[in-house]
Amino acid sequence: MAEQKRDYYEVLGVSKTASDSELKSAYRKLAKKYHPDMNPGDAEAEKKFKEASEAYAILSDPDKRRQYDQFGHAAFENGGGGAGGFDFSGMDFGDIFGDIFGSFFGGGGRASNGPMRGANLRAAVHITFEEAAFGCEKELEIVLKDECAACHGSGAKPGTSKRTCTKCGGKGRVMMSQQSLFGMVQNVTTCPDCHGSGQVIDTPCPDCNGTGYVARKKKISVSIPAGIDNGQSVRIREKGEPGRNGGPRGDLLVEVIVANHPIFQRRDMDIYSSAPISFAQATLGGEVIIDTLDGKVSYEVKPGTQTDTTIRLRGKGIPSLRNRNVRGDQYVTLVVQVPTGLSKDAKEALRKFDELTGNTISGGPKAVKSEKKKKGFAGKIKDAIDDL
Ligand SMILES: [Zn+2]
Ligand SMILES: [Zn+2]
Repeated sequence: MAEQKRDYYEVLGVSKTASDSELKSAYRKLAKKYHPDMNPGDAEAEKKFKEASEAYAILSDPDKRRQYDQFGHAAFENGGGGAGGFDFSGMDFGDIFGDIFGSFFGGGGRASNGPMRGANLRAAVHITFEEAAFGCEKELEIVLKDECAACHGSGAKPGTSKRTCTKCGGKGRVMMSQQSLFGMVQNVTTCPDCHGSGQVIDTPCPDCNGTGYVARKKKISVSIPAGIDNGQSVRIREKGEPGRNGGPRGDLLVEVIVANHPIFQRRDMDIYSSAPISFAQATLGGEVIIDTLDGKVSYEVKPGTQTDTTIRLRGKGIPSLRNRNVRGDQYVTLVVQVPTGLSKDAKEALRKFDELTGNTISGGPKAVKSEKKKKGFAGKIKDAIDDL
């Protein structure tokens, strides 16, 4: 083992004669500080949390504490398990986490008959590249729940009423064994019988089957802002699930899925594309027509432009989500086209062109030979190896 295991009393910062309540409060302090939910992604904190949890698991159990006092860590080692291999099964952290982390562990702690905000709903809408760039209005059909008119949301048949749940005694929470970071632990979770409401319906309302809500398809208009990108969401306030006990509705989150464009690619606010130019345009310079989001624009290519030269068209990119007057740029890669299917006259003109520019394109052994000549020593060796 690379690391010496720390003494459990030292880990918790208590004396060897610490009482149960001293252990508990020491552990509570450490758990609060190092709990992974409080320190997401922090490996050091997670290690500390596990170490403290292990120490508390042992010292809070009178039998295990006695064994530890007598034999130290050796009492619990089965073939060099170490902290990572510690078995937490059967440990009861429920009452500790129940009151420290009420909101983290199953949402217990809060009275369930107070007003509660409804859950958020999620939906998706498909739009084109241009719609994402310039914004659009979309109509969405979603299933929205409304309070049942017959039972006013209680879920009980009119004339009857709910009764207190016997499984949880009306608390809405029960103690459950749960698989967690360090094995099976006891946790406080929402009661499965009453789903946290603390009440059970014996005779459900026939209109809503006891749910208290009726679902209806509704059309909702969504305003998609200019500049939105694939995967971003638009929030529509209070179009989610209805609240309970007079609480507000949740929100509707509409995820935007942007279709690919045949010519343009987007990176943040910039657009990337390519445009073909002829060999003559590249050599002599001249006007090329380039596709942009705003239509075709003319661009003056400089004489002697090499293939894969990238030009920038300022302000031809995607508008900013915050200010639609601010726009990204468009980067266009100019690709010089090698002509194919030339007429006899055109071929003749090209040969003439090569002659005039000092090249020769007459093929055959002579040309190959002169190519080999230029290779030098390394090239010759490579050729020799290739011939083997
Ligand atoms: Zn009803
Ligand atoms: Zn219950």
